[in-house]
Amino acid sequence: MKRSERAELVAEELLRAFPDPEVPLHHKDPFTLLVAVMLSAQCTDARVNLVTPGLFAVADTPEKMAALSWQEVRTHIASCGLTETKAKRLVATAQAIVQKHGGLVPSSFEELEALPGVGHKTASVVMNQAFGFPAFPVDTHIFRLARRWGLSRGNSVEKVEEDLKHLYPQHLWGELHLRFVLWGRAFCPARGCRPTCTICSRLKEE
Ligand code: SF4
Repeated sequence: MKRSERAELVAEELLRAFPDPEVPLHHKDPFTLLVAVMLSAQCTDARVNLVTPGLFAVADTPEKMAALSWQEVRTHIASCGLTETKAKRLVATAQAIVQKHGGLVPSSFEELEALPGVGHKTASVVMNQAFGFPAFPVDTHIFRLARRWGLSRGNSVEKVEEDLKHLYPQHLWGELHLRFVLWGRAFCPARGCRPTCTICSRLKEE
């Protein structure tokens, strides 16, 4: 089976499983999404969604977050892991948004990735889910599945992202990102396999 045919089969299966995927991190605007994505590093989305209501009650804007000490922010994100680093980055990012961008989250990859602690994956999620820009953020699930399904042989997230972007049209990137992640979490972890799933056996057919 050609790579393009594999890509089509995978997209069909994911569409069937998750026809209307929702953005998993609760947010109300670009800033609260940025904060939630930064908190999600090495933490589940469910845990982030438990923590953000308390944090946003005291700081749901760059101005409010920038005015807090990192120690105070840390008290609101205590169960998210890497709390000192995340708290420092949240305050520094909020201060940069206030000082350099007039209090508005910037809407370009270059400006987002220049913020403290904001890498390409975080910037891609914000660009796509907050601003509607075509982006295909590759996380650990997508990296694993793309290689497992023969959609990429890349050894880096950058190469896997490049391969996936070549395989799928731009308007599908955001939804496919969500579907890949949902599939990886629900059915196809690093170890184990959904017993009724036939994707891999079908991908091996001629
Ligand atoms: S057959 Fe198993 S490993 Fe392959 S996609 Fe389905 S759940 Fe994942």
